[in-house]
Amino acid sequence: MDILDNTNEETGKLQQIIKQFYPFAKEYLDFGDDPNVVLRSDTENAGNFLGKTAYYAPDSYEIHLFIDKRHPKDVLRSLSHELVHHSQNCRGEFDRKYENQPQIGEIGYAQDNPHLRNMEKEAYLVGNLLFRDWCDGLSSQFSAILLENEEKMDKNEKKTAQKEQKILKSEPKTPQKEAKKPLKQWYYGSLYDKLTSKWTKK
Ligand SMILES: [Zn+2]
Repeated sequence: MDILDNTNEETGKLQQIIKQFYPFAKEYLDFGDDPNVVLRSDTENAGNFLGKTAYYAPDSYEIHLFIDKRHPKDVLRSLSHELVHHSQNCRGEFDRKYENQPQIGEIGYAQDNPHLRNMEKEAYLVGNLLFRDWCDGLSSQFSAILLENEEKMDKNEKKTAQKEQKILKSEPKTPQKEAKKPLKQWYYGSLYDKLTSKWTKK
């Protein structure tokens, strides 16, 4: 398994984790031929919530992983999923050519084909189990790398949460200030309401 880095990012640690994960996955999924992994950067894709995160190209045995703004754990979960597609390919599941079929993993590819839909179900189920089992048995060295990255993410998330709280706290101040001004108006208003309700009742 070769890793091709087509990004401008620092991917050393990610590649290290991928190389640690791969033999475990290969044994777990029990496939013969090795795929290649292509790390990709696509800033337009990263900004899109529904953008592609990964796909598998059955003809070239290539797994493409988009890594922009993604936690290594998340990238690895994608790899796990695509490796299941690779094992399906080795099993001959994609041998029948589907006309105008997009690459495995592209949005909508499994929508109206029951066979590909089943392949997708298997990839989600087995891919998640495989990744979880690997995480459970992770050596302290690698869980430290993942944790270190996770802490960085946590700090960023905390900053965002603090900003959001500030915004939330600042919001009620405005209506409160405004509420003090029309107090007299409110008083007369409610007095008027009470009087009119009395008058209209009688
Ligand atoms: Zn898939």
